[in-house]
Amino acid sequence: MTEYKKPLPRPTATSLPFWQAAKRHELQIQHCTKCGAHIFYPRDICPECLGSELEWIKVSGKGVVYSYTIARAPTHPAFAEDVPYVIAIVELAEGPRITTNIVGCKPEEVHIGMGVEATFEDVTPEITLVKFRPA
Ligand SMILES: [Zn+2]
Repeated sequence: MTEYKKPLPRPTATSLPFWQAAKRHELQIQHCTKCGAHIFYPRDICPECLGSELEWIKVSGKGVVYSYTIARAPTHPAFAEDVPYVIAIVELAEGPRITTNIVGCKPEEVHIGMGVEATFEDVTPEITLVKFRPA
């Protein structure tokens, strides 16, 4: 593995299960055991019913592109060599939306409503990034 020089996520106590699952190449989100809501991003309280009994569940990793943009100028100097790249919001089959990158196709091929699936990029021994590719 070559040295990874881009900014890395910093898992918190709340988000750690997400990152641990990603390391196993699984997509997990939270599920409220009180009202049944599926929740992403990770948090301590259900945004629907304010319940605090949230569990982590493995989800399909399937979704559709809800919105996207093609970054033709880097959003951070560390990403300069990656342009053009796609920053997208993917709506998971379970409902929540996740901000991510679309990889595995040309940026021009991405479109709203496109079926995608999670793919996992092991960037350091500790961190695996969750991205999406055409399904
Ligand atoms: Zn709830």
